[in-house]
Amino acid sequence: MRFYLGSLVCAWAIAHAVPAQAQRAHSRDPFRDVASLNARLAALHAAHPTTTRVVTVATTAHGDVQALEVDPAGQFAADAPALFIQGGIHGNEWISTEVVLRLAELVSDGQPRWRGLTYRLVPAINVDGFATGSRKALDPAGKPFDANRDFPVPGQPDHPSQPLIAALRDYVSQGKVVAVLDYHSAAECMLWPFAYDKAAAPPDVDAIAGITAQMASAVGFCSGQVAKVISYKHQGTASDWYQDALGVPAILIELGSVDDPGSQAVEQILIDQERPFGLFLGWLEARGVKPAPAAPAASGCRDVTVAVGEAPLGYQATGPVCDGLRHGAWQFRFVDGGLMREGSYERGKEQGAWRTYHPGGQPQDVGTFVAGTPDGGWKRYAATGTLVEERSYAGGSREGALSRWTDDGALWQVRACAGGMCKTQCKTSGKTTCEQILAKAARPDRHAKRPAATPTRAKPATRAKPTTRAKPVVRKKAPAKRKRATATPAS
Ligand SMILES: [Zn+2]
Repeated sequence: MRFYLGSLVCAWAIAHAVPAQAQRAHSRDPFRDVASLNARLAALHAAHPTTTRVVTVATTAHGDVQALEVDPAGQFAADAPALFIQGGIHGNEWISTEVVLRLAELVSDGQPRWRGLTYRLVPAINVDGFATGSRKALDPAGKPFDANRDFPVPGQPDHPSQPLIAALRDYVSQGKVVAVLDYHSAAECMLWPFAYDKAAAPPDVDAIAGITAQMASAVGFCSGQVAKVISYKHQGTASDWYQDALGVPAILIELGSVDDPGSQAVEQILIDQERPFGLFLGWLEARGVKPAPAAPAASGCRDVTVAVGEAPLGYQATGPVCDGLRHGAWQFRFVDGGLMREGSYERGKEQGAWRTYHPGGQPQDVGTFVAGTPDGGWKRYAATGTLVEERSYAGGSREGALSRWTDDGALWQVRACAGGMCKTQCKTSGKTTCEQILAKAARPDRHAKRPAATPTRAKPATRAKPTTRAKPVVRKKAPAKRKRATATPAS
């Protein structure tokens, strides 16, 4: 859909004044201001006045925490089943805020497929952290606290939360929330409860683990239980509380990084996240939580154009829809008309070669989908043509080496992936380069350590075998000085 941005003209004008490379993956300046964020919600409401409304959940030092509520039927019945979607509980994980805004744009667009649920979307729970670029929120005295450690741990329901979290708990307890999606970054994983105890599982753990794995495969992420995938030092996470206190499935989604060398472009992350979101709604339909839309009648094929969002992150996509499903060659274009992404669908799922582009038209991501999941070797290029990332997938999971280079071509990070889980082999930090770390690990006197495969771009074939399980580049035992290689940063 398209919506008029009104007072956001200045913010977007600034975005356009930044050189194309800076404004995309590595700059978040146009998005940091809380007033601009809330103006985007107001603009969505203004564009869809009968099916959306804006609710203030809490007020903090840096502004209001606002929710966009969407009822495609325009009724807003108190007992209507609601999907609660939150981002930005860690304020510096700003891509999570953008993804929730994208989902708000989608479910506001009036399509029949969203009907049967109401949607309550809070793009930035922690607006203080969002405003200041900090992970932490501020208590009434101005002291930082981790908002995702301030919920009652299951079994300890009397824990008093800070006013921000208390207000959020009140808000989510109202009405009939039936499921929760909680967006974070940047571990590239989708996670099911619980975080507080590896031995604790939701009542229907198999079903929740199953849909989480499906959603993860659609974007090539890892999946698993939070406590097992990410090591927490503390308890009291939001999704644990939603799962325990509300008794509803609460899935935590760790998006990819946006500020590191080789990061995926923001506009592509937003499009990619539409796939798992669609799968999750389908799962709610299969469970009877949400009525399924009427099956499309056999109507043959026709060309369709879909417009979502605004520049610089919005797109316009055109291609054939056959019997209600995308089928055939599609093209996505930036709002200014430049080619953003192209490939084919087969009965609603990406299939075959896909390619994304920089705003200037240079190739960016190049790879293959099989039945809606990334498969085989994928490469990413800077606008200069420099290779900045290589990774491989098998069956929707990351497999083998994942390597990233800076725009100058310097090796920046190598991770070894198996079954979707990746362990860091080296990462340039300060004056110590990834190459030096690999060379040290490969020294013959370190007999206990297997030499790591040094990824040189001269031998891409060694990293392009999607069906080969990851070579065990991972050392059995980490040297004392190395940090434990887990998914970074904790959600
Ligand atoms: Zn987080």
